Amino acid sequence: MLRARSVISARALSRSYATAAPPHALVLLEHRQGVLDSGSLSALTAAEELGGKVTGLVIGAPEHVQGVVDKAKKLKGLTSILHATSAQYNEPLPEVVSPLLEKLLSNSPPFTHIVSATSSFAKSLLPRVAAKLDSPAISDVISVEHDASNNSTTFNRPIYAGNAIATVRAPSSIPIKFFTVRGTAFAAAQPQDASEAEASVLEPIEVTDSPTEHIKTTLTKSDRPDLGVASRVVSGGRALKSADTFASTLYPLADALGAAVGASRAAVDAGYADNSLQVGQTGKVVAPELYLAVGISGAIQHLAGMKDSKLIVAVNKASRVLLPSIVQDPDAPIFQVADYGLVADLFEAVPELVEKLKA
Ligand SMILES: Cc1cc2nc3c(=O)[nH]c(=O)nc-3n(C[C@H](O)[C@H](O)[C@H](O)COP(=O)(O)OP(=O)(O)OC[C@H]3O[C@@H](n4cnc5c(N)ncnc54)[C@H](O)[C@@H]3O)c2cc1C
Repeated sequence: MLRARSVISARALSRSYATAAPPHALVLLEHRQGVLDSGSLSALTAAEELGGKVTGLVIGAPEHVQGVVDKAKKLKGLTSILHATSAQYNEPLPEVVSPLLEKLLSNSPPFTHIVSATSSFAKSLLPRVAAKLDSPAISDVISVEHDASNNSTTFNRPIYAGNAIATVRAPSSIPIKFFTVRGTAFAAAQPQDASEAEASVLEPIEVTDSPTEHIKTTLTKSDRPDLGVASRVVSGGRALKSADTFASTLYPLADALGAAVGASRAAVDAGYADNSLQVGQTGKVVAPELYLAVGISGAIQHLAGMKDSKLIVAVNKASRVLLPSIVQDPDAPIFQVADYGLVADLFEAVPELVEKLKA
């Protein structure tokens, strides 16, 4: 029943888009309590690379939306902004927001691309609406190119934990192309002085029968830089032994470097670090100027989250017997991606490093 309805609406969309003009992207501008997410700024850059108009979509509670719109108006690349305000959007749930997006896409103007960061919220919202409109959704895009001559769009996205890049082409017969972008692959859109984007109000759709409700949000507060955007990251692994030694060993190093703290999944699973700090395939993907991996072996799933870092430094004491002499292990996979490797006991090397940095 649902499928049949979706196909009809997709056909209707195809007809209205048949004379498709240059691309017009709709970018989801996510924010937390009025502070724009850096991932959305990267999504805006990706949308701009399509080469057409770019409209930003801001949704949120009444007390937050206007501030976000005012900041967004100054962003380079945005041609217009749509904003919807409702108390229901304070902690937005995909189930509550999807009717709004679906309705917007069923009406004019004809958006050709729906773009967002690869955030938890967008990863649930975009495929949900795409399925309703019988359109494809492509996730974690690292580069995009639109061919205006035939209205097709080509996307590149990593697969197999980043070990291969898939190239996916969406032809012109697909009226709306949904995609989420990897933040580290696109520069964040910058504010500019001139040409403010025009903002218009979008009527919210009140959802009374949502199957889910927001109970609470628990945030980890930290004075250190945000892991997702920090230019330096110090990450710790299982070798840190406990939550206390993780904190007492790594935090001084991170503070001396002005770095964010990350962790391997083994460290997170063992309770040494909060899971918001996990780097890797099932954690955050980071690409800082400096990534310092301390007591991390460099499993493929960890490498998937950090191997694009500009400078990788590893501290690892791994050793194995190699006849005729005992040598420190050059085999820990982290050493294969590291620009600099220090074969040492982290409990000696890190405090020494902190002392030297302070000096
Ligand atoms: C589906 C799936 C998804 C996954 N996703 C992720 C992910 O997102 N992120 C992630 O990190 N992992 C992920 N993993 C887990 C991954 O496979 C590894 O198990 C994990 O990364 C190992 O963490 P580690 O390097 O801290 O621990 P280990 O592999 O145990 O390595 C510890 C290292 O510390 C060194 N060491 C020990 N003592 C010292 C010391 N005193 N001084 C210096 N070095 C020392 C050891 O030589 C060793 O190299 C995933 C696994 C699966 C199956």
